[in-house]
Amino acid sequence: MKLVVEECQRYAKMRAHTATHLLHTELAKIFKTTKQAGSLVDEDYLRFDFNADRLLSPEEIHDIEKNINQIIYDSYGVEVNEMSLDEATKTWAKAFFEDKYGDKVRVVRVFNHDNEIVSIELCGGTHVVNTKDIWCFTIVSQEAVASWVKRIVAVTGPKVAARLHEVQEILDVTVEKLWIKTATQLADKLDKTLKEYDDMKANLESLETTMIKNILWWSDFSSWKDFDKIFLVPVELNFKNVAFQAKWMFKGQNIFIYTKEWGFVLIADKGTSAKALAEKLGIKWWGTDAAVQGRDEKVLTLFK
Ligand SMILES: [Zn+2]
Repeated sequence: MKLVVEECQRYAKMRAHTATHLLHTELAKIFKTTKQAGSLVDEDYLRFDFNADRLLSPEEIHDIEKNINQIIYDSYGVEVNEMSLDEATKTWAKAFFEDKYGDKVRVVRVFNHDNEIVSIELCGGTHVVNTKDIWCFTIVSQEAVASWVKRIVAVTGPKVAARLHEVQEILDVTVEKLWIKTATQLADKLDKTLKEYDDMKANLESLETTMIKNILWWSDFSSWKDFDKIFLVPVELNFKNVAFQAKWMFKGQNIFIYTKEWGFVLIADKGTSAKALAEKLGIKWWGTDAAVQGRDEKVLTLFK
């Protein structure tokens, strides 16, 4: 039993390894001068790092998957040979290979049915004998691990079906939560929901502004020394908007607005600097000559 498991694991790694070679070839078509920057091959799982200044577009990912799966379905032979480096590089750009190798190299090649090389690598690993043995290939993710190094994670064999199942589950949950029938309605539903959200946000903001104006207009205020109007407003209000509205509603006046949680804004519109007024009150502030704000426990006792 143990032997069977080990054999399965070996095949799973072989599938991932041959697929890594095919991926490398596809990437080299897109990024002409790319170099492999690291690679990890596990059971039906591969991670491939390569040099590139940008990530792949969704179309490029789609094309890579399509091309590799086509090679799998076309059942191309995989050959492993020992030969001289010269012989190996005769048929393929030398830049594709890593820099240092001995005289004799182990070459892994994939041939199409016209006996043309589809993929060639100097490699000591074990491989499937025919591309059809990879079964299937799909890219799971891509990311930038450094500015010049991009990483692709992909799966092969039975893990492709598992991945499909995973994606399907995510879609099913999303479809259910959005109250639609099928995933094909997702884009439309999202557009609609986002528009509703924007409308609601705009409505809320406008309502809030009206409410703030009303509160400022109708609420009791006191006057004290340099200040024409002093307001104690509820903490729940958008304080930034409160200050903005007050500035326009009470032009030419000095206003002090605060909450019971010590937040305050001081607007000066009578020629005196807001900074100077705040200094006079002895509260911690930041801002400009026109208006300062801050948080200071002292605001609760200032006007008593
Ligand atoms: Zn290899």
